[in-house]
Amino acid sequence: MPVKIIDGKRIAKKIKAELKNEVLNLKKKGVIPELAVILVGENPSSKIYVKNKEKACQEIGIISKVYTFGKNVVQKDILSLIFRLNRDKKINGILVQLPLPKKFDTKRIINMIDPEKDVDCFHPENVGRLFLGFPRFFPCTPAGIMEILSRNNLKIAGKNMVIVGRSNVVGKPLAVMATNADATVTLAHSKTKKLKEKCLWADILVSATGKIGLIKADMVKQGAIVIDVGINYNKSGKLTGDVDFERVKRKAMAITPVPGGVGPMTIAMLLKNTIKAAKDNI
Ligand code: NAD
Repeated sequence: MPVKIIDGKRIAKKIKAELKNEVLNLKKKGVIPELAVILVGENPSSKIYVKNKEKACQEIGIISKVYTFGKNVVQKDILSLIFRLNRDKKINGILVQLPLPKKFDTKRIINMIDPEKDVDCFHPENVGRLFLGFPRFFPCTPAGIMEILSRNNLKIAGKNMVIVGRSNVVGKPLAVMATNADATVTLAHSKTKKLKEKCLWADILVSATGKIGLIKADMVKQGAIVIDVGINYNKSGKLTGDVDFERVKRKAMAITPVPGGVGPMTIAMLLKNTIKAAKDNI
């Protein structure tokens, strides 16, 4: 059977159309979802991500406000802004674009966000709820991956999922979500021994490492589903994932490309969380 190249952009577009309808329905009730995005410093990737999030909000009718701070801002000012946004009844979601410049205490800043407005799902209360199986929000990238699987009718219950990369943003929460959805999960990382052997076990192989070409064809079981989360730039400045796409696609049953795979789904899930926060607040 030919490999299915999963079009994350198309799925995200469909989700956004669904969400646009939800926003219209909320507007009929006098509610307009509103997202506050806090951007600190000069990180060029962060600026692009924030712009993309702003654009996506506009597309579906969510109000987005970006609060920009130069790198010389002091932590107290960011905390005061979050305090104010927490109390502002019009604001449904608050997001601090990460990474913050090194001098800031990221944990303290994230912990300051009202968990009911924590649409990135990074607050310890929301992470704990996710872990225990009564989530308020789902973190955006893992949620995007689960959505890609379900919308392509790729069942995960009873399947072996191997996740390479154990970050708090992707690998760890995805491991929890997939476990709660009845997959058998292996969470691998830079200290994992015999990575190839573990990857070959995967019915569903997810890579989130930021290492170009880490996942080679001989690490992939014939007929596996391969999800590439990596966002990397190669020597010629071309956007590329963690997976050796051209070779791996000959073995996989389905595979996500980079760009156009997981990336667009992450933003769609942020919009979904913001709308959920608005609904929960009615
Ligand atoms: P991170 O950068 O915080 O950590 C990388 C992880 O990869 C670590 O757990 C490390 O142990 C593991 N790793 C590194 N080298 C390895 C190796 N040789 N073998 C096995 N494991 C190895 O992780 P992150 O923030 O989850 O980001 C990972 C990648 O995913 C980056 O390229 C990032 O840009 C991308 N990303 C994409 C999206 C999206 O929406 N598509 C969202 C978040 C992150």
